[in-house]
Amino acid sequence: LMQLFRPLDLLGWVYRTIRQGLVDMAEMFRLIDTETEVEDAPGAPALVVRRPSLAFENVAFGYDPDRQILDGLSFEVPAGSTLAIVGPSGAGKSTIARLLFRFYDPQEGRILIDGQDIAGVTQDSLRAAIGIVPQDAVLFNDTLAYNIAYGAEGADNAVIKRAARDAALMPLVERLPERFATTVGERGMKLSGGEKQRVAIARTLVKDPPILLLDEATSALDTRTEQEILATLKRIARGRTTIAIAHRLSTIADADRIIVLDHGRMHESGTHGELLTAGGLYAEMWARQASEKGEGVERDGAADR
Ligand code: ADP
Ligand code: MG
Repeated sequence: LMQLFRPLDLLGWVYRTIRQGLVDMAEMFRLIDTETEVEDAPGAPALVVRRPSLAFENVAFGYDPDRQILDGLSFEVPAGSTLAIVGPSGAGKSTIARLLFRFYDPQEGRILIDGQDIAGVTQDSLRAAIGIVPQDAVLFNDTLAYNIAYGAEGADNAVIKRAARDAALMPLVERLPERFATTVGERGMKLSGGEKQRVAIARTLVKDPPILLLDEATSALDTRTEQEILATLKRIARGRTTIAIAHRLSTIADADRIIVLDHGRMHESGTHGELLTAGGLYAEMWARQASEKGEGVERDGAADR
């Protein structure tokens, strides 16, 4: 099948696939020399993040001109707080993440980080400020150390080891035959979903970004592993500004603020308690998820066994 692709088509496909998956690979975009839709403005300065507040101001966006995905979306995330974005599949949640990482520019409105329009700063500085933990972390066929340091060349062993410890990866490292030098990925040691997410978390910790973007970071995991990874994510979110996109509401109930997105618009917003009291879409989704899984406010992990 690969023979059917001309090399450039294949590169374009790889590029789109990676972008769609929201994998943090600014580096890879440079390696794969295909045209990007977004370019730095001439003489653009670097983003300077003192207090990582974040704002969408009337953002309108569609991938195609005839189909609006985000429709005048506005919200603010104060520095150091956590905003959760929930809503039905296809509502535009990951699109928000892609715009924040500037894979695309909005057709209308602005996105601000610490008061600076992200369209006016260098993409390198923007992407250095945001750490992403996607749903399925991509591992390269290389050593565990390489996979943790990925994107931060020159990270020394002490930094890698500290990141592994903070991501609770050490139990895995102890089991690997050559510890950090063990080859992982498709052609090496296969890691479980939870272990791969921990590698992604360690990768983010090496980067040490002021802003954290979690796009369904635990939704591919079983209930018990999800709880363990959530605890780690909560720990690393401290002192950072976090956007957590989630399908399972129980994973974001303690966010400082929750936005319910529907058809590219903010349907409602508030804390978990406020949204339950309001009795709207969130309360409905909460009730549905609780009954589907036979689980309530507190998961006990027994439901899936
Ligand atoms: P969510 O993350 O809330 O499930 P997305 O933000 O990924 O939703 O997608 C919102 C809508 O945009 C969906 O209808 C999806 O099919 C569409 N979409 C996503 N990516 C692209 C793309 N690259 N080109 C065209 N349409 C897209
Ligand atoms: Mg999504």
